[in-house]
Amino acid sequence: MNEHPAPSIPQLQLNTGASIPQIGLGTWPLDDDEVERAIVDAAGLGYRHIDTAEKYGNEVGVGRGIRATGIDRGEFFVTTKLDGKFQGDDRAIAGLEASLERLGLDYVDLLLIHWPLPQRDLFVSTWRTFEKLLERGLTRAIGTSNFSPAHLKTLMAQTAIVPAVNQVQLSPQIPRDEYRAFHDEHAIVTVAWSPLGGGNRLLDHEILRQLGEEYGVSPAQIVLRWHVQQGIVPIPKSKTPERMRANLDVFGFELSRDDMLMLDRLVGGEKAVDPDVDGH
Ligand code: NDP
Repeated sequence: MNEHPAPSIPQLQLNTGASIPQIGLGTWPLDDDEVERAIVDAAGLGYRHIDTAEKYGNEVGVGRGIRATGIDRGEFFVTTKLDGKFQGDDRAIAGLEASLERLGLDYVDLLLIHWPLPQRDLFVSTWRTFEKLLERGLTRAIGTSNFSPAHLKTLMAQTAIVPAVNQVQLSPQIPRDEYRAFHDEHAIVTVAWSPLGGGNRLLDHEILRQLGEEYGVSPAQIVLRWHVQQGIVPIPKSKTPERMRANLDVFGFELSRDDMLMLDRLVGGEKAVDPDVDGH
């Protein structure tokens, strides 16, 4: 028996009309066996949104985990990401087909270009292939990851479909205001990777400890509330059921305006990736 009834997780609407659960489960760096277990635990707690990537090497385990839950595939929202080696020349077709094969799924809910790799200048042609994959129904939505507003402008000037999502490194330490303003202007949903700071020092910050005490929640819950209160979709990774449960339980309290402003003071102190040079 599950002691904690699955909380109902708000959904945000994508520009395709589909909805995305506002909290997802990150799966890097879990291996196939770990991720299978994590998905079974997470689904029992109410998670339905799973984030993986070709590069994580765990798509087989993700598929196994989903099947092991016994829950209809249609209830899950599964994201995978195309690695740089599949960019250009319609290589994304083979890239996605191989991911689907490993996942044991007929389609994913969201396919992302993992990194723009602007020095290779292939993301526009890759996106045109993504548009074909969307039309074939092999993915229900297409989006980007680690794209700056400048990369998105280049993409959108030359292609027909606006990305449904841009998944970027984002936390109170790395708030990426300029990205979020651009996303909001174009109805692109912001998904946050390393929303908790990626297991580094963010959660030890005194401000988070104080706010946690005030609201009767943990520092991680304060940080995830900061995300969801601004319409961001965080994808915290945990392999620990108690933390998974806490990470979903952020819809029953609201941070005051002053406390949201207090969290702005956490900015800095962690290295932000640079989408112009980083990636694979
Ligand atoms: P997160 O910010 O999600 O942090 C994960 C770390 O926080 C783990 O060490 C986890 O430990 C710990 N943790 C989780 N919940 C809690 C909690 N309630 N209290 C205390 N500690 C907690 O960082 P990630 O870098 O993993 O990012 C999340 C996901 O984003 C990845 O798993 C991946 O799916 C995606 N990602 C995407 C990238 C991209 O380029 N698009 C790049 C990097 C990540 P434990 O598991 O032991 O509980």
